[in-house]
Amino acid sequence: RKSFMSYSVSVIVTAGALVGNDRFEGYCIDLLTELANVLGFTYEIRLVPDGRYGSQDEKGQWNGMIRELIEADLAVAPLTITYMREKVIDFSKPFMSMGISILYRKPNATNNGFFSFLNPMTPDIWVYILLAYLGVNKKNQTSFLVPRFSPYEWYDAHPCNPGSDVVENNFTLLNSFWFGVGSLMQQGSELMPKALSTRIIGGIWWFFTLIIISSYTANLAAFLTVERMDSPVDSADDIAKQTKIEYGVVKDGATMTFFKKSKVSTFEKMWAFMSSKPSTSLVKSIEDGIQRVLKSDYALIMESTTIDYITRRNCNLTQVGGIIDSKGYGIGTPIGSPYRDKITIAILSILEDGRLHMLKEKWWSGSSCLDEERHETGPMGIQNLGGIFIVLASGLVLSVFVAIAEFVYKLRKTAEREQVYVPINHEPNVLFS
Ligand code: GLU
Repeated sequence: RKSFMSYSVSVIVTAGALVGNDRFEGYCIDLLTELANVLGFTYEIRLVPDGRYGSQDEKGQWNGMIRELIEADLAVAPLTITYMREKVIDFSKPFMSMGISILYRKPNATNNGFFSFLNPMTPDIWVYILLAYLGVNKKNQTSFLVPRFSPYEWYDAHPCNPGSDVVENNFTLLNSFWFGVGSLMQQGSELMPKALSTRIIGGIWWFFTLIIISSYTANLAAFLTVERMDSPVDSADDIAKQTKIEYGVVKDGATMTFFKKSKVSTFEKMWAFMSSKPSTSLVKSIEDGIQRVLKSDYALIMESTTIDYITRRNCNLTQVGGIIDSKGYGIGTPIGSPYRDKITIAILSILEDGRLHMLKEKWWSGSSCLDEERHETGPMGIQNLGGIFIVLASGLVLSVFVAIAEFVYKLRKTAEREQVYVPINHEPNVLFS
């Protein structure tokens, strides 16, 4: 009988002149070598013909590695120990533990944008600030109404003629708005409330602007200097709730069986989605799945160890959310195999003397992506701050139009008052009425 090795993510088939067992490398190959050294056996590696891990079809037939164990002695692969499999094959004690999680591409950094200066506050806070501003200043509301009521805001229009009936109030509607903007922008205005009631409004508005501006300033620094990663989905629940991002699992693997058999409503819903379009959701192998994640809007639900392995090598990919369940990989043997106990003992021995840990370190350590995760941005460019120049230019353009409107309005008023002909555009005698 021959041992065989499945094609798995940690096994890379090397091209070239290599023959026999030397064609393969990876964690599982190293593990097999260690076990062979401890137990003193020789082996020949074969790939599973259908390239699958193994699941049971409706007729109860198994495929993949589980089926191959009729002929082979050992299945050394990231082969998950499951209840259904344990009934038809034997597993050694687990050599690695993991759980199901989600592989998705890394979201783009979000602080690049012309209007990134709006990012420190959510859109609803901007709307509330606008409403608060209008509320405090609006006609018939506090800041405009109170000064009108308060006798202490009215003063003599002609101070040289005290006691005259002509009195004035500084807090007209437009002035109220100007007072509001002045304090919100931390600039002040020449308007100063005199009555206690208006001073209360002014004081409380200043306090409000103080807190808003300080929070904005503090947050702006954080937002402009660190690139933020905003992922559209953060957990399995998020994925289940939407249909825009397609998701799936490796066909005939333990993860597929997990979703198929699950009684948890979220997972049942996810399986209903995946099984409704099996041709696109279910991928043939982990490699195919990774290619799909990279090329289209697709999330691959797979095991955390494999996700960790891939994300260390491909910086465009990341794990989304936590780990859903907890299980382990074991070496598969046919039921009642005399090798199972020996393999278990060998695994425990290399586990306890630290060689298993060294193997894990060899294949799962180091990553060129880690520094990139929260990388500090360099000097700010036009792509970060362009928006405020647009705001400035729009304000200037608006002021020109308002100036023209004011001019025309004043002209019409004067013409009305004096009933004169005003020449415009070299057309003499145009009457404004
Ligand atoms: N490790 C799984 C298995 O033993 C394959 C990968 C997966 O289903 O996510 O079937």
